[in-house]
Amino acid sequence: MPFARDLHARPIHEIGAEASTAESSCPVCAGREVRPRFRVGGVTSPVVVCTDCGVGRYDPPLAPDEVFEGYPSEYYGQLGMKFSPGVEALVRLAATRQSAFLSRGLSPRARVLDVGCGRGVIFGPLADRGLELHGVEIRIEAVEGADPRAEVSIAPRLAEAGYAAEFFDEVVIWHALEHVIDPRGTLAEVHRILRSGGRLVVAVPNFASAQARWSGAAWFHLDAPRHLYHFPLEALERLLEDLGFEVESRHHFSLRQNPFGWVQSLLNRVRSLPRNGLYTLLYERPKGVPPAFDRGTRVGLLLLGLLAAPIALVASVVAAVLRSGATVHVVARKPAHSSRQAPPER
Ligand SMILES: [Zn+2]
Repeated sequence: MPFARDLHARPIHEIGAEASTAESSCPVCAGREVRPRFRVGGVTSPVVVCTDCGVGRYDPPLAPDEVFEGYPSEYYGQLGMKFSPGVEALVRLAATRQSAFLSRGLSPRARVLDVGCGRGVIFGPLADRGLELHGVEIRIEAVEGADPRAEVSIAPRLAEAGYAAEFFDEVVIWHALEHVIDPRGTLAEVHRILRSGGRLVVAVPNFASAQARWSGAAWFHLDAPRHLYHFPLEALERLLEDLGFEVESRHHFSLRQNPFGWVQSLLNRVRSLPRNGLYTLLYERPKGVPPAFDRGTRVGLLLLGLLAAPIALVASVVAAVLRSGATVHVVARKPAHSSRQAPPER
């Protein structure tokens, strides 16, 4: 299989089936009644949807080995570069804007943790603002090229990174919660290590969004098999409140995520085009690796992508106005002087 072609190209099919009882319980509502929804190529378990809160998950849950198979070394790119240089520059520009949002209201020496930091594109701009940065990742390859001013821990689960209680002023989980095996346990640990009055920012794809519903199995942000959970915004808020956080605000626009999600989902609905083909083209290839797809397909993908871009931008703005962002970020706070303790992990 040529480089990166299979990485984003797992086929996904709708499977309309009767409601049934799952082996696992829902991380949000603990329910077991589900409706099977998708079948992912190469994965034994179907994606099922909780009939109570609408969260999607694999059932039975994937074994840890199966989860790790979704992250071959080429997923992380080379020397901190994940995309081709032009796209990489845009990603870094977006990270600078994002860091302004994340540092709002923080004192200069505030301590910030990025859970699932990856190459830490937000570390540089946040360190420039004088913040003390920490990151946690599951694999050393993931953090290659990260800003050396950040202190990064490698741990299979957040709880194993060993942070002290009430240690952080802010915790950021940016498009990482849907990748973790135990999102409830991860957020419970965040509650413990965040100081009272501290802030949590969580960004996830919104499984209840117009983009997700319109795209179905073609939705770019399904990111199979890496997204183990698909959260409707309302279910994410329910989980946060259940764990003792107070949700302060929800944000429905992301220039970096939402328009591209429309473009690639639209292209995914064209049967003759390779799944996530445009995204695959934008991924950085190591030297000497031939491009994925023949020349005609590459030109077609780029042209259709350019044509769809203005429509996608308008659709993203409209969706944001209608509070139906394809990806959302939620700002929540651990209440100051709260006597409420986070409930134990399920
Ligand atoms: Zn549920």
